[in-house]
Amino acid sequence: MTTDTITAISTPIGEGAIAIVRLSGPEAITITNELFTGKDLREIATHTINYGRIVDPDTRDIVDEVMVSVMRAPKTFTREDIVEINCHGGMVAVNKVLDIILSKGARLAEPGEFTKRAFLNGRIDLSQAEAVMDLIRAKTDKAMSVAVKQMDGRLSKLITELRQELLETVAHVEVNIDYPEYDDVEEMSHEMMRTNSREVHKRINELLEVANQGKILREGIATAIIGRPNVGKSSLMNTLVQENKAIVTDVPGTTRDIIEEYVNVRGVPLRLVDTAGIRETEDIVEKIGVERSRQVLQESDLILFVLNFNEELTEEDMKLFETVQGLDYIVIVNKTDLEQKVDLEKVKELAGDRPVITTSLVVEEGVDKLEKAIASTFFEGEIDTGDMTYVSNIRHIQLLKQAKQALEDAMEGIELGMPLDIVQIDVTRTWEILGEIVGDTASDSLIDQLFSQFCLGK
Ligand code: GDP
Ligand code: ZN
Repeated sequence: MTTDTITAISTPIGEGAIAIVRLSGPEAITITNELFTGKDLREIATHTINYGRIVDPDTRDIVDEVMVSVMRAPKTFTREDIVEINCHGGMVAVNKVLDIILSKGARLAEPGEFTKRAFLNGRIDLSQAEAVMDLIRAKTDKAMSVAVKQMDGRLSKLITELRQELLETVAHVEVNIDYPEYDDVEEMSHEMMRTNSREVHKRINELLEVANQGKILREGIATAIIGRPNVGKSSLMNTLVQENKAIVTDVPGTTRDIIEEYVNVRGVPLRLVDTAGIRETEDIVEKIGVERSRQVLQESDLILFVLNFNEELTEEDMKLFETVQGLDYIVIVNKTDLEQKVDLEKVKELAGDRPVITTSLVVEEGVDKLEKAIASTFFEGEIDTGDMTYVSNIRHIQLLKQAKQALEDAMEGIELGMPLDIVQIDVTRTWEILGEIVGDTASDSLIDQLFSQFCLGK
């Protein structure tokens, strides 16, 4: 059990008119009460919001006008008493409030410590705690809803079910080994082990299959726009950015800054990323040749390949077709407002089963079709995170892969007719690995490391 009271500013530094100072722990209410003028917070009902002022207890100077939320254990995020002080006086006042609280015996929370307490007090499991962290970082609506689902405990529930199944198998086999009364017990146990391992293996596989979509949702689809000069690449980029919410982030790199622009196309986050200058590329093939450009383009998840409706196919276009063979690309034949000179049938033939979309970016025609094509390149129709359980966390994906491997070892043992108590070791290992996802078998150092990644005040 934790015994001290922690505090931190839980809103982003320097942003917004309201800032919140949060306290959690046994002294949260009494400490706040010492600085608060208004109702006696020790007397009021739980989960209430109270208007008043924060005063410096030594000088009695008014520091800020505040709303104080009081939430008593155990129905709180940390399962401890929580107080949230909503300050209105800007960052100076907030820092002053925090200072006073610290001087009254609360300790400054480490990054993620509130969430860590929620975990340690059994309020949430590890995958839910990580979802909180993802939520804080979520860049798009869909990524957000994946994180929310995970926080609901969907993934945990699934993992727990799988572990239960494995545990039952092990227990069953254990009993059979101990009481080999019947002749065919060995054969029956083998059969059960085989069936259950296959079933769990199948479900881990399903989780891993959608995991890639989860990753895409979280990190964005790395998108490159290619085409000859003047076909409309910049115009396409502008259209996508203007029609959709764009989020520009600056990621300081080692050698230079990489500019990433996120656009949200029907809930699909496109990351127009300018690494190695592949965001908009006109002379990539000229410069570095077909093979090398393929390698560069392979790093993107999606290629938007722009052609000119108003010009015949050129040698360069053909080279670009060659370059994108086998990659995920969409052909955009732009400038349909002008006279047709391109051989559209030929384009479709070259594109094979990849979509060919005609657009006029000037009169804004076909953009809708393009957005649909983008969405269905990665997801069947519009993406629906409704009843899927996505695994979007790298740590979870790695553990699932390990679990799958351990289970395959077990299955191989079964097929080779190895003794069940040997096979059982691999099954138990699978159970342990899956346990690390929900935090059941995770080591203390892993837990410390995970929570230290959180933002301060969460
Ligand atoms: P980039 O060199 O591939 O980036 O091409 P730009 O986007 O800079 O466009 C080249 C020229 O084509 C600009 O003058 C655009 O206004 C024009 N353009 C882009 N899209 C269209 C279109 O759909 N129809 C027409 N008529 N002109 C377009
Ligand atoms: Zn351009």
